[in-house]
Amino acid sequence: MHAIEFTEPQKITVIDRPNEDNPASGEAVVRTHRMGICGTDLSCYLGKFPFFAYPRTPGHELGLEVVAVGEGVTNVQPGDKCSLEPYVNDPESPTSKRARRTAAPACR
Ligand SMILES: [Zn+2]
Repeated sequence: MHAIEFTEPQKITVIDRPNEDNPASGEAVVRTHRMGICGTDLSCYLGKFPFFAYPRTPGHELGLEVVAVGEGVTNVQPGDKCSLEPYVNDPESPTSKRARRTAAPACR
């Protein structure tokens, strides 16, 4: 599969990544159909985001489709169209407790 990578500030490279067709237990494999570019991505591209390390593949606002699920996955199934917030919360962190959010895909 092809991906883009912010190689260094203001440099984008098209790279190849291996296809991962077999999800591990509790994981899903997804196919990205659309990816938003937001202000965070732009700041990272420009080299102005303080916590960003290069190289990195951008994209954290995704429209995607589930193509396979691993053992124990019950909240999505292959064919589901989803939006994704690809963050994992530590439910014990002060930020998680304050925001009361969960990292779950929203599917239809
Ligand atoms: Zn964003």
